[in-house]
Amino acid sequence: MFATVNPATGEKVREFPEIPPSELIGILAKMETDQLAWSKKAPEERVVPVRKLAGNLLAQRDSLARTITLEMGKPLQQAQAEIEKCAWVCEYYAEHAVELLKNSELEAGDGRAAYLRTEPLGVILNIMPWNFPFWQLFRAAIPAVSAGNGILLKHASNTPQCGLSIEALFQDAGFPLHLLRNVMVNEEDLRFAFVHAAVQGITLTGSTEAGRTVAASAGAQLKKTVLELGGSDPYLILEDADLDQAAEACVASRMINSGQSCIAAKRFIVVGDAKRHESFVGRIVERIQAYPMSDPVDPGARLGPLARPNLRDKLHEQVEDSRAAGAELRLGGEVPKRPGNWYPATVLDGIKPGMPAFDQELFGPVAAIARVPDEATAIEWANASNYGLGGALFTADIKRAHELAAQLAVGSVAINDFVKSDPRQPFGGIRESGYGRELGPQGIYEFSNRKTVVYP
Ligand code: NAP
Repeated sequence: MFATVNPATGEKVREFPEIPPSELIGILAKMETDQLAWSKKAPEERVVPVRKLAGNLLAQRDSLARTITLEMGKPLQQAQAEIEKCAWVCEYYAEHAVELLKNSELEAGDGRAAYLRTEPLGVILNIMPWNFPFWQLFRAAIPAVSAGNGILLKHASNTPQCGLSIEALFQDAGFPLHLLRNVMVNEEDLRFAFVHAAVQGITLTGSTEAGRTVAASAGAQLKKTVLELGGSDPYLILEDADLDQAAEACVASRMINSGQSCIAAKRFIVVGDAKRHESFVGRIVERIQAYPMSDPVDPGARLGPLARPNLRDKLHEQVEDSRAAGAELRLGGEVPKRPGNWYPATVLDGIKPGMPAFDQELFGPVAAIARVPDEATAIEWANASNYGLGGALFTADIKRAHELAAQLAVGSVAINDFVKSDPRQPFGGIRESGYGRELGPQGIYEFSNRKTVVYP
């Protein structure tokens, strides 16, 4: 069921009908034609609407941000920042795509020469989540369309108006009418897209569970996939770390998007004795108290409701189960009695392997802190996760930080800062956080045919 339900109040604002498979197939036929024409344009021509899109996003920033906040509840200021970041990724590829798509010379023998061409694959199915309903799509779609692909967007069922706004933005920027189409189809009918010949790649941003299903269906069709899944990022606070700096970064990262970010700081692993540990926990509790639950449209709001009631209920269950397994509740942890999907800023201390707060992803405003005696145990615990998205290290010894960065089983490491996605840098995970990379130079090649040409 595609519907806009205000997470702050629980009020259903609008419902949208799903389209039947026949309509999906009709849309794919039009997309195939438009994508083929688009693929024949020179990269210089393709970046023109990409650049225009950046300007249109900025011009419509406030109204687009209000749609985001209405549908998934993030504080309005953060929704505005999300739209600005989408404009940034457009500008990045508008500036760099032409260079990245040029042929590059290869070595060859026997008196022959060779080069590598980059060609699009076709239509790429983008299955997208609600948590950054614009950014997740833009970071996947902009490099793909710059490379000459089309995008079939299947947005999350709780952010249908975001999907519609994205489709309109692409059409208004001057892309072919059917280059990016948003479709409201259920999971079962989506199989018609998986098997369609025009669809030559599939990317999903979402849960590990959805990733497994989508990868299996795509695998049955031998279609390329990129998966951006969950994370349980470890933040290692070493014995010589500046505790204020570490606490500041940990809380900022944990609380972005009301805690619903795949690359949030999820396990704070503190090296040292009980006294140092307590002084870190005190700093976390103090800072996180500056995140009261607030109406997300309030300009000063820092913590809004969670996106859906089931996500809030799951989070609370994980907190309760972790407490039952021995974690200590230091703040929050109580579901407020009011309409909407509210959950307070919460701090759990003493988390260990075997507890949900350590083993699972907590997708909400819950800081989970562990204490370890030494650096070796910190690395061991950091890597004792099924996930492998990002991680951070806090220390005064930058040389040592580089050595430890090499030991973390993740796709991104930040030193004395928190992990952020940045259009200039490849982003993605390993293990159950998925595979493939978005963004940076690498992002434009994920859904490309890198064709080798050898000639006399
Ligand atoms: P989800 O169920 O995985 O939903 C994400 C998207 O996948 C939605 O469009 C959803 O459609 C679709 N989907 C789900 N199951 C599917 C299937 N079997 N076949 C085809 N499409 C399917 O995620 P969620 O539970 O709403 O969100 C929370 C999780 O997403 C967290 O674990 C979080 O870490 C992860 N996430 C990861 C990233 C990242 O960048 N790595 C970003 C955001 C979220 P419907 O909405 O219609 O179900």
